[in-house]
Amino acid sequence: MEASLESGGLYVHLPFCPYICPYCDFAKWPLRRSTAERYLRALETEVASAPAFEGRTLFLGGGTPNTYPAETIATLIERVRGRFSLQEGAEITIELNPDLALCEGFDVYRRAGITRLSFGAQSFVTSELKTLGRGHSPEEAAAAIARARRAGFGNLSLDLMFAVPAQTIATWERSLEAAVALEPEHISTYGLTVEAGTPYAAWQRREPAAFGGQDLEAELYALAIDRLSAAGYEQYEISNFARPGFRSAHNANYWRNDAYLGLGVGAASYLRGVRATHTRDLDAYTEASLAGAPIPGESERLEGAARAGEAAMLALRTSEGVEVASFAERYGIDFPSYYASPVGEMSEAGMLEITPTHVRLTRRGRFLANTVCAAFVNAD
Ligand code: SF4
Repeated sequence: MEASLESGGLYVHLPFCPYICPYCDFAKWPLRRSTAERYLRALETEVASAPAFEGRTLFLGGGTPNTYPAETIATLIERVRGRFSLQEGAEITIELNPDLALCEGFDVYRRAGITRLSFGAQSFVTSELKTLGRGHSPEEAAAAIARARRAGFGNLSLDLMFAVPAQTIATWERSLEAAVALEPEHISTYGLTVEAGTPYAAWQRREPAAFGGQDLEAELYALAIDRLSAAGYEQYEISNFARPGFRSAHNANYWRNDAYLGLGVGAASYLRGVRATHTRDLDAYTEASLAGAPIPGESERLEGAARAGEAAMLALRTSEGVEVASFAERYGIDFPSYYASPVGEMSEAGMLEITPTHVRLTRRGRFLANTVCAAFVNAD
């Protein structure tokens, strides 16, 4: 008997950038046209030979997807549609660098069926953009968003970063106000993490005082929650805020621990209980894909407690938290009794709220979400 078709999120990785930001730990490379063209052929080869899958959503991420011309993106989406059954009305998102030189072709995006644009604004303070190594100004980000609106896009998201070196409460407030004034439907706020091997890691070793401490980071996060809530955005996940009806459907796939299929260098998939990650070596990916060989990478089967722990960690990130009845149905685990020890500990510390139907983070818990979630992943 044929196994039923899996459905979930489709992710396509476009890894080239006009410049490399010194904090970035993604799978990314500086743009070279010949390499980018070869990569595209490798990606199209992978699309053509990927397992059957039904896309509830499609997300084109990077890197900087808009280093490719809009027509190229449209052709790629056509190929993805041709290979996978993308559901009618599926959310299709593309990440964009708001550098105006790159922001062309919004009409082409619309015709290609893209429904949602996610702009990497990061900050609306010129000095912070410089510190982050970004090549766009606050004005360019605002102008890119205005262009997108004129082209008829009604679902826009902005990424903002806090805990940037030299950032203050006042400058973060300015960024939040500027973002809200642009009236995006969705805002993501990420605390800067210094990743090993990046230029920022070397900077932090040389000059630790340049990086604000945990107290400041917590204050900045609290300000984001308060300001965005007051402006009508619902915090529906630790880092994500949306106007009613504009939550990211693509990310919801991940948080529900549903299947996803990732295509491209460094992309991750979760299919039939197996989590697999493609190599982050660009040449190895490109060569293998073009040769029709298996793409190198790693995979692990998540079963039993490991699978349930992962699901708990993901669900706890969301404002709904863990729904006890559906968790029991899906994983065969009674959440409150199986996780009695971390649940007891964390609720006593004021980080978890227990209701008759749900277990979720409190406001205090959201500040220490990584610690709380880790307790469930590591629980026996
Ligand atoms: S533009 Fe984005 S993906 Fe590229 S280097 Fe900067 S942060 Fe990384």
